[in-house]
Amino acid sequence: MGAKILAGKAIAEAIKAETAADITRLNEIHGFRPCLAVVRVGDDPASAVYVGNKVKSSEAVGIVSEHHHLPETVSHEELLELVTTLNRRDEVDGILVQLPLPEHIIGREILESIDPEKDVDGFHPINVGRLSQGEKALVPCTPAGVIEILKRSNIEIAGQHAVVVGRSNIVGKPMAMLLLQENATVTICHSRTKDLPEVTQRADILIAAIGRAGFIRGEHIRDGATVVDVGINNVSDAAIARELFGEDEIDKRIAAIEKRGYTLVGDVNPREAIEKAGYFTPVPGGVGLLTVAMLMKNTVEAARLRREV
Ligand code: NAP
Repeated sequence: MGAKILAGKAIAEAIKAETAADITRLNEIHGFRPCLAVVRVGDDPASAVYVGNKVKSSEAVGIVSEHHHLPETVSHEELLELVTTLNRRDEVDGILVQLPLPEHIIGREILESIDPEKDVDGFHPINVGRLSQGEKALVPCTPAGVIEILKRSNIEIAGQHAVVVGRSNIVGKPMAMLLLQENATVTICHSRTKDLPEVTQRADILIAAIGRAGFIRGEHIRDGATVVDVGINNVSDAAIARELFGEDEIDKRIAAIEKRGYTLVGDVNPREAIEKAGYFTPVPGGVGLLTVAMLMKNTVEAARLRREV
């Protein structure tokens, strides 16, 4: 039992408090509150929860929020038209289209239709390009949250070897770019990486963004490394949960499975990570809490850049 737990709650609360203070100042000095428009299509229950959290958190920090909920049957053209209208409305500072979108909608085209200056998710190719060139950009919230956790926990990034497992456009790739910007030496791994444990064992900072419950085991982790678990997976099998959690945690997890049918698990085996790592982010209670806080921060940043204040 070694790893120090890097809890996301206090850090997320601090970022939200700083953002709320910024908004109060913007309102006092420049007479406006940033406005975030969130677009949701269909009735995916997970998306409904995520959007609900985003709208509630926006209101709590003083952001003016709009929730545009469209039916599953909305056409690609109608959705494009809504984004175009939001692009044109000067009082709207941030636009977020909740993913996933229904299959008949071409997601890439929708994301590329968002004004890059209002792209608070940081998924537009202009922002992706700016990030990779080390220029000022709106950057994806989850990897930006990981950087905040590391910095605010006084974990050295510059000169360290950071290994990112996962190369998605929303987590792995921007994560690698942000770590590079912080002067880490960065290795990116994926499903075709040969001898993954040999590579991840060389990490001072190991980031797991894979989408497979408990995939990163003790054998992947160097003694004392910082392990950041981005994964969010539902585990409904009590036997699997028993492999992942130690005595201090397992009763709570089994109770969750019995009560709501699943427990939330990251991409790292927590029992083994706690034994080997120096620092470890828990799931839930780690990176996940930062994502919404960073969205709030990005909305204020977008308002400032666009309105030049
Ligand atoms: P994704 O698009 O499915 O990407 C998964 C990545 O993992 C891919 O690059 C894949 O490699 C790699 N991978 C899969 N199996 C592997 C293996 N056996 N060995 C090495 N690499 C492997 O997932 P994502 O959207 O990046 O999300 C990753 C995780 O983060 C998920 O659990 C998701 O729920 C979670 N997430 C959390 C937040 C948050 O707020 N905390 C936000 C977003 C995502 P290939 O490219 O070769 O296929």
